Amino acid sequence: MKKMYILFGPPGSGKGTQASLLVKNDGFAWLSTGEVFRRNIREGTPLGKQVEAIVKSGGLVSDELVMEIVKDEIAKMGYPEKLLLDGVPRTVKQAEILDDIAKEFGYEVYKFVEIVVPEEEVIRRLTNRYVCPICGYVSNKPGKCPNDGATLEKRADDNEETVRRRLEEYHKYADPVINWYKKKGIYVAVDGVGSIEEVYKRLKEALE
Ligand SMILES: [Zn+2]
Repeated sequence: MKKMYILFGPPGSGKGTQASLLVKNDGFAWLSTGEVFRRNIREGTPLGKQVEAIVKSGGLVSDELVMEIVKDEIAKMGYPEKLLLDGVPRTVKQAEILDDIAKEFGYEVYKFVEIVVPEEEVIRRLTNRYVCPICGYVSNKPGKCPNDGATLEKRADDNEETVRRRLEEYHKYADPVINWYKKKGIYVAVDGVGSIEEVYKRLKEALE
């Protein structure tokens, strides 16, 4: 049976980096809802326009619409064998809809993996971040970008107060979803402290 894997983690958990490695080395297909939203808005698709209008008016994109987009995207991807979901589900309602989609498309919702990073470590990582203004290269040290030589800059919103607020927001939506998957018995925690390679190794074991 085809399998769905849900990748979860707070900002600064290295989720994106790890997902790219899993795609590159292990045959996972990656569905990032953030990326799908941005792409649709950029390309001005009917969906993108719908989402943009909702966001502009200060509203929230409904669980039903989010999951409709996910469903659509899975079909567009050609129903990959190993599907890595990133960005959903963010609510229990979305998790329930995901179960329905899985059933309809012949998937098992196989693992829910959370990359766990202590709050102080997230703050340390996100407040020590230097970003290239040209290509987006990220480093934990100030200096020049290895790609284009531009001076790396600290982003204004990478301060402790903002990071703490983002973490609070994360726990607000994440905790109920995590508890829901714990009850289902498919929740796995992965220690996100360590080198990229170390975390990647743990993650691969957890996804088996
Ligand atoms: Zn650069």
